[in-house]
Amino acid sequence: MSRSYVIKPELGKTYPFISHGKGIYLYDKDGKRYIDGCSGAVTASIGHGVEEVAEAMYQQAKEVSFAYRSHFSSDAVEELGAKLAEWAPGSLNWTFFVSSGSEATETAQKIAIQYWQEKGRPTKNRIISRWMSYHGITMGALSMSGHVLRRKRFVPLLEDYPTITGPYPYRRPAGMSLEAYALECANELERAILRVGAEQVAAFIAEPVIGASGGAVVPPDGYFQRIREICDKYEVLFIADEVMTGVGRTGKAFGVDHWGVVPDLMTLGKGMSAGYTPMAATMVTDEIIETITQGSGLIMAGHTYSANPQSAAVSLAVLKYVEKHGLIEKAAEQGAYLLSRLQELADELPLIGEARGLGMLCGLEFVKNKETKEPFALSEGVASKVIAKAFEKGLLIYPAMGGIEGVAGDSIIVSPPLTITKEQIDELIALLKDAIVSVQ
Ligand code: PLP
Repeated sequence: MSRSYVIKPELGKTYPFISHGKGIYLYDKDGKRYIDGCSGAVTASIGHGVEEVAEAMYQQAKEVSFAYRSHFSSDAVEELGAKLAEWAPGSLNWTFFVSSGSEATETAQKIAIQYWQEKGRPTKNRIISRWMSYHGITMGALSMSGHVLRRKRFVPLLEDYPTITGPYPYRRPAGMSLEAYALECANELERAILRVGAEQVAAFIAEPVIGASGGAVVPPDGYFQRIREICDKYEVLFIADEVMTGVGRTGKAFGVDHWGVVPDLMTLGKGMSAGYTPMAATMVTDEIIETITQGSGLIMAGHTYSANPQSAAVSLAVLKYVEKHGLIEKAAEQGAYLLSRLQELADELPLIGEARGLGMLCGLEFVKNKETKEPFALSEGVASKVIAKAFEKGLLIYPAMGGIEGVAGDSIIVSPPLTITKEQIDELIALLKDAIVSVQ
């Protein structure tokens, strides 16, 4: 093929062509093999080329791929809804299907605002979010996101939502215990609600583990429990954005399960269909559905591809695969091994300030000075250099640049498929070490 008319992430750059994938490996058309060390965009969580999923895809396509949600429901979509209700905590029993994480968080934003309208409290229409966060690229989702790099061109069009900072244990004030820090960070939400006025606030949104804008930043125990208390006290809905953390990635079904906290709304994407089809969802509680059912009876959201039978069948096959192969438990076990190997690298290499993570969602933060934790300026692009070197060596790694110059660091995410073995983790670590050493 001589000339490309496809708009690529980096215009003018030549990308290799993908040929096929099997398990944790991807192969390009020149025969080069890559370890998928980040499941693409923390997505391909059951690995590539799974026959059962291909079979489910084929069977559904033979029956019917698309039927519009205003006309029909389907076995696939009902069964998937029932499975998610079984997996989800508390009374998060209801699912609104969409096709991307951005649609899921934006749908959550809309449902939260609508819920208060239906309750006769229409002034509760603002969402509080955190600076180190990413909730999606569409305008509503970006309004809630603190990812500076992705926001800055569009700031005049965005609601001014991100308000609080969120926990970042590696950079907490010197001498402060994790316990005290957890409360201090959570109490920032209370101050923000009081500043804005509880009567203006519909919801608070947060990622259980900060992904794209932090690099697997895990909150200290106690943080989300206190967040839940504050949300209850001020009648603010809690939206857990589980697009990256959900469906087993962190070694529990959902990130919030680590702290026994039940959100009012929960968004899913990525691992929900593990890359086999675009699929995402917004889950809500019985209370929200009962309120809207008794009110207008119509949720004002939805997209053409919402709840299409094809994507539902594929996602259902993925969830069944996760259950059948015990992948959530594997994510916990092998994730602990991955983190221990990353921590060895952090001990050994001067460039790494911290190795962190939960389950199979891990990260490394690069620093100029290990003692002072001085971060690299984003313009120095150390994480980008490591990622480029790793790619050359046949290892895929995901960027997680905080985007707050001089505050959040230059980080990467290491998040291979949940199916990865110990031997394969060793192989991944060897390549990653080579890449970092060649940059430092
Ligand atoms: N929410 C979180 C936590 C994410 O990590 C992402 C994507 O990285 C999104 C939302 C947006 O998802 P999508 O890219 O599928 O629109």
